[in-house]
Amino acid sequence: MQEIYLDHAATTPVHPEVLEAMLPYYRDMHGNPSSMHRFGQRVRHTVDEARSIIARCVNAEPGEIIFTSGGTEADNMALIGVMTANRDKGKHLITSQIEHHAVLHTCEYLESLGYEVTYLPVDETGRVAVEDVAQAIRPDTVMISIMFGNNEVGTLQHIGKIGKLAKERGVYFHTDAVQAFGIEEVDVKRLHVDLLSISAHKVNGPKGVGSLYARRGIKIASYIHGGNQEKKRRAGTENVAGIVGFARAAELAINTREERRAHYEKLRRMMMAVWDEQSVDYVVNGHPKFYMPHILNVSFPGTKTEAMLMKLDIAGVAAASGSACMSGSLEISHVLRAMNLPEDRLISAIRFSFGYGNTEEQVREAAERIARIVNKG
Ligand SMILES: *Cc1c(COP(=O)(O)O)cnc(C)c1O
Repeated sequence: MQEIYLDHAATTPVHPEVLEAMLPYYRDMHGNPSSMHRFGQRVRHTVDEARSIIARCVNAEPGEIIFTSGGTEADNMALIGVMTANRDKGKHLITSQIEHHAVLHTCEYLESLGYEVTYLPVDETGRVAVEDVAQAIRPDTVMISIMFGNNEVGTLQHIGKIGKLAKERGVYFHTDAVQAFGIEEVDVKRLHVDLLSISAHKVNGPKGVGSLYARRGIKIASYIHGGNQEKKRRAGTENVAGIVGFARAAELAINTREERRAHYEKLRRMMMAVWDEQSVDYVVNGHPKFYMPHILNVSFPGTKTEAMLMKLDIAGVAAASGSACMSGSLEISHVLRAMNLPEDRLISAIRFSFGYGNTEEQVREAAERIARIVNKG
């Protein structure tokens, strides 16, 4: 039986070109970028190049990119770094109820330190209303953190409008673009974004590396102390091979963005067409128009998420219930809960997410296996 991986929102396979680019840094180029000698300087140059590539991918300057251990650390750094460095401005932070736990749990941590957080609601499509953001801004609001595109249902937020609003009101704007990067156009200048998180392993790069863009001039406290790496904003010897792989993956993702988008759009339509043919009872969760095409979240009323995922796994189809961090637990997704979906949709939701390696044949086959399982009840 062919195994079919439809869980790319959780993580993606490393692209062969990415692995190829990384190998020399495990084999021969072992220097420490902070060393004065040529072994170090060669590697320093590589890290600088990678920084320029990542900067270009989001339309930032190289000095505005801080390499991190991934999306989670970038989110932590943005929130904790900015809130603690700007205590003189206030203690209030605005976010949404549908953020990734890397943001939500960091907000809870900040609350435990005495900061105040407003968690904005979303509508039934998973969107935050810009007016709600405007109304939540107080004189002591320091920053807004609203994700670019949601990792569970794929819904896109009004990033440009929120960015403009934040700028007008003198509030910093952070967006978790981990899931949107490589799918949507991510331009920090055009969208008025001050801080932005991305992660390599969601775009066919290696796990354990990502970056935070922090606009020049933003006060951000470092919370990993040690050497002078990353302009003292994040100490520790650089993950050189990871950074090289990240840059190659990001470049590939940007260069193939349009064709992959079209491919994912085709795959999701095909999947639904198969279900329609087989009279499968399903309903799509998320926004009908403003969505990322690689994520398809559907409820199969009458089924239960956990049992379905188990049956799908036995049938060789890998999918998820929402965020990977939640799998294995029976808890209802906080995202679907915030969208106020009826109970039968909450308990029967499954997320399918596509990647560049998925073929039409694979997805048709998966859709048919799913149809058989759902229709058998
Ligand atoms: C995967 C993901 C993260 C976490 O990134 P890691 O690199 O796995 O730490 C954060 N936010 C979103 C939206 C994600 O999809």
